[in-house]
Amino acid sequence: MKLAGLTATVILAVTTTSAAHAYVRTTTENHTPISWPSSCLTFVPSSSALPTGIDLATFTATIDQAMANWRVATSPCSNFEMSRLDPQPVLVLHDNLSVIKFNTQFWTHGDTATGASFDSATKAITTVSFIDKKGVPNDGTILDADIELNATDYQFVILPSDSMFPNESDLENTLTHEMGHAQGLAHTCYIEGDPIPLDENGQPLPDCEHSDPVVAATTMFAIASPSDIDKRYPKADDVAGICAIYPLTASACGPPLTAATQASAGCQLNPTDKDTTFPVLCLIGVLARLQFRRRLRAQR
Ligand SMILES: [Zn+2]
Repeated sequence: MKLAGLTATVILAVTTTSAAHAYVRTTTENHTPISWPSSCLTFVPSSSALPTGIDLATFTATIDQAMANWRVATSPCSNFEMSRLDPQPVLVLHDNLSVIKFNTQFWTHGDTATGASFDSATKAITTVSFIDKKGVPNDGTILDADIELNATDYQFVILPSDSMFPNESDLENTLTHEMGHAQGLAHTCYIEGDPIPLDENGQPLPDCEHSDPVVAATTMFAIASPSDIDKRYPKADDVAGICAIYPLTASACGPPLTAATQASAGCQLNPTDKDTTFPVLCLIGVLARLQFRRRLRAQR
């Protein structure tokens, strides 16, 4: 099992451009780009915990809007569609159920008291499970993508709000970014100290704190200020990434899975074959974090 942490910083820059720079795909350890097997992703909003100020109707409406943000931007060149089921009291598990959940008690994977704490500067984490076995036909196939929202250190709001506090975060902005990870995209910049990833052209990514405005404006830029709503709108680089992974000719999405069928679709531990099946099918591939770097707070 491998955990790869991706973080980033957001320098606020409102820039529009029609020219794509570069996008970055999440890859397996052996550098196979990951993707869903067809142009489909169904989320299940978790009703098990909601933060103060966000009711279930607001939660689901914002999820719908974030999915629509991607669909509107990518529909000319991609057939990828995200959908959701009705909210259910589901937990974050590696169960082929792609859950969106507020963590209101503990900022740990699964919101558990015993888990290792994530960095409190991280607003959200998307955990993508994929097959990571070089040489097999389905190497890089995504099985599960869970989005956890840090409601223990941040107050999620729908901007514009009457007042902005350093610990606030726009829910739509955060969800749109995390859904980019859930589709298979990685950040468009790197944080100093992390290994420097390469973009789809094989070029090293820019440092998040020294990126040009075009990169800083992408939805998949890794840093967000409290007042950031720019990530709500996928830019040319973000769109180019999705359209490269899921072009109009990609395998079309079938009917949305129900919770029951999705949970039984795979990634079950088979006791008779646990040494080979479980590690391959249920490998945790990515912890992708949308982070706010405290020392950049002044740059709102
Ligand atoms: Zn991210």
